[in-house]
Amino acid sequence: MPLIDSFQRKIEYLRFSVIDQCNIRCQYCMPPEQKLWEKQPNLLTFDEICRMVTILASLGVRRVRITGGEPLVRKGVPDLIRRLNDVSDLDEVLLTTNGIPLPTLARPLRDAGLEKINIHLDTLSAEKFCKITYGGDIRKVLTGIEESQRVGLQPIKLNAVLQKGINDDEVEDLLRFTANHGLILRLIEMMPIGPGRELMPSLYMPVRLIREKLAEKYTLSPTNPHLGGGPAVYYRVKELNTVIGFISPVSEPFCGTCNRIRISSDGRFQDCLAFDGTFSFRDLLRNPLMTDERIAAKVHWLLSGKAESHDDFQQAADIRTPCMTGIGG
Ligand code: SAM
Ligand code: SF4
Repeated sequence: MPLIDSFQRKIEYLRFSVIDQCNIRCQYCMPPEQKLWEKQPNLLTFDEICRMVTILASLGVRRVRITGGEPLVRKGVPDLIRRLNDVSDLDEVLLTTNGIPLPTLARPLRDAGLEKINIHLDTLSAEKFCKITYGGDIRKVLTGIEESQRVGLQPIKLNAVLQKGINDDEVEDLLRFTANHGLILRLIEMMPIGPGRELMPSLYMPVRLIREKLAEKYTLSPTNPHLGGGPAVYYRVKELNTVIGFISPVSEPFCGTCNRIRISSDGRFQDCLAFDGTFSFRDLLRNPLMTDERIAAKVHWLLSGKAESHDDFQQAADIRTPCMTGIGG
């Protein structure tokens, strides 16, 4: 039976976090003092992840995105990608990364069958990058992008979280950078999750304001709404011969067309970013008597509780406490 929730939304997209650790600390995502990671035995093993994805694919999930924390901090992710590419009924296996490990891992990932990749980069300034990531080295990300292109990953989408007073003056530079390098820029609104909650009042701005500003200078025309099959709304920028995507979970929520579920690195099922996932599949997956059919039935049961919307994201997000790192964005 396909995965359709109580509001007739068909679930086809799964984001799977494989680790809650990261090699940098973006100020809105991971508190600098955070040192409490899931212990290795609590993380789902690759066998458990593959089993869970196989069950979900049999229920209609068609695309899975591996995420984190920083997914490439976990050893063996290329092997996981290779195994997931063999899951029948799955159309696409995707990856989201901060790009830092890509100088060495782009090649093995491509060899494992990865085709497309999303790389997260909020600024082109080395100092700003170092400051907002608490010590990150932008050169590794830039080399990672180069290497991803060299090995043929395509398309490469560059995800930037819009931060008022930090990178809102840099969007045009980012757009020129992506245009010159054949990448696709996507601007994401900051969400009241993790440290983002405290930073929202000072750093949040709706992506619409940037779209309006760009439209004063460039010819923007709506384009290919299905470029990614996700929530981004894309515009062609005629003069730069490129495309930019805007993702506005806070100012213009896209709950009505939500087609996704998430599983955290410790196996928790999460049907909406704004609400905490409390049920973990880990124990079921580790119970030798548990059949795939019973796990599938549990997925259906959990999905029946998926909320229609997070009308007030701030209020919804206040109910929960964990950071984005275990959930995977
Ligand atoms: N480490 C990888 C990366 O940075 O792309 C994958 C995981 S990261 C949690 C996934 C996405 O979540 C990133 O694009 C990041 O910018 C976004 N993110 C994290 N915290 C956020 C927040 N409070 N508001 C908006 N986006 C956030
Ligand atoms: Fe790490 Fe990604 Fe969170 Fe930044 S957004 S701290 S790169 S997990």
